[in-house]
Parts: sequence; structure tokens; C-alpha cells
Amino acid sequence: MGPPSLAPETREQRRRMVFRHLGGRGVRDRRVLAAMAWLPREWFLPPGLAAEAYSDAPLPIGSGQTISQPYVVALMTENLHLRRGDRVLEIGTGSGYQTAVLARLAAEVFTIERLPDLLVEAEERFRRLHLTNIRTRHGDGAAGWPEAAPFDAIVVTAAAPRVPEPLTAQLAPGGRLVIPVGDLAAQELMILERGAAGDALAQRQAGGVRFVPLISRHAFTDER
Ligand code: SAM
Repeated sequence: MGPPSLAPETREQRRRMVFRHLGGRGVRDRRVLAAMAWLPREWFLPPGLAAEAYSDAPLPIGSGQTISQPYVVALMTENLHLRRGDRVLEIGTGSGYQTAVLARLAAEVFTIERLPDLLVEAEERFRRLHLTNIRTRHGDGAAGWPEAAPFDAIVVTAAAPRVPEPLTAQLAPGGRLVIPVGDLAAQELMILERGAAGDALAQRQAGGVRFVPLISRHAFTDER
């Protein structure tokens, strides 16, 4: 049985977003495209911004934070190469949109957010969507979630000056880590992959991005 059909009034806009902004810019993973065609992005936005939901742009979600641009969500998710049985750690829950995409593709998602108000709102959205495979935590995600480690995939949705060491330590053999690394103005999307024997970390770059900062003693210590 397929997933329940949600928000039929925006189904066509979602289909167009997937075709034009995601497929049209090279995203090929069918499971990622299907998850984003299913999920109503307007449910993750402040009510006044619902009309903007299917523009390919980051948008403000309150507390000085943003929901990521759909293309960047798709690019990051595709690079995680998720399988149905995977356990995923996300740092920076924000609106919960990226979390919900991950929850459609993996067995379990662990997500950490430092701003409690955003986390409460995201948890309400997960309930409304009946996404029961998400566990949430309030705190500094750069420290990871040691009790639940190791993870098959880790995604950081905030910019860091370097890859926080606790995160690489929590990556399973064969695991993938996607993180924007750079300064406060601009970053490069880095993809790290741990060898199947659990040893070396291979590293490559997937293009320029611009994220709000990861605030942590392991990253940036303030927002300026
Ligand atoms: N993925 C989100 C979405 O789909 O809406 C967008 C995330 S937003 C670009 C980055 C988030 O990271 C913000 O909500 C911010 O509060 C959070 N953040 C920043 N530093 C953090 C930290 N050390 N631990 C956890 N969350 C953090």
C-alpha cells in the first residue's frame, strides 16, 4: 500500500517542484523524489509564507532560522544513499522538513535541535504526519547522540568551520556524513564515507551552499 495522499490542493505544485527544481537540476534518486513529492512543505512554514512553499528558496521559520531550499534538501539526502533499514542522525531539526524526508526513507531518525521552540513545533508536525520513527532531542547536536551510535548516515543542516570529531566517531563502517563546511559567509558541502572495514574516511565535495551556523563549542561559538 502506498503512503496516504496529503494536502491534495498542493499535490500539483509539489509534482512541478520535483520535476523542475530537483529532477531538472540533476537529482536522480527516485525514493528522494517520491518522498519530496509526498510531503506538503507548507505544513513546515509560518502560515503567512505558505504561498511561497514551492519556490526553490530557503525561507524564515522564526528564531532567526531557516527551512532549507528544496534542492539542497534533495542534494543532501541523495548523498546519504539511504537504505530502508538505516539509522540516521540529523543535527539541526529546524522546521522538521528534512527530518520528515529522512523518516520516509530510513528505519529510524534521531534529530537534535538547540532551540526548544523550534523543536516543539517540529514534534507537532511529526505527530500530524504520523511519522513514528523519529526520536528528538534538545541540545548541542555537534556532540552527536552517543547512546544511539553508530549511525549509517549523519546529516548536519547548519554550517561548521570543520567536521566535529564526535560525529565522525559515531559513523558506522560504510556510513555517510554530509555537512556544510566553511566560514559564516559560504560553505562547501562535504561528503565523508567511512570504509566498510570501519577504518579510513574518504572525502569529496558536492558544491557550494549557504547555511546558518552550527552553534557549539565544536563549531561556531556565536551567530555573527
Ligand atoms: N533542516 C532544517 C529544515 O528542514 O527546516 C533546517 C535547519 S536550519 C538551516 C539549521 C538549524 O540548526 C537551526 O534550527 C538551528 O537552530 C540548528 N542548530 C544550530 N546549531 C545547532 C547545534 N549545535 N545543535 C543542534 N541544532 C543546531
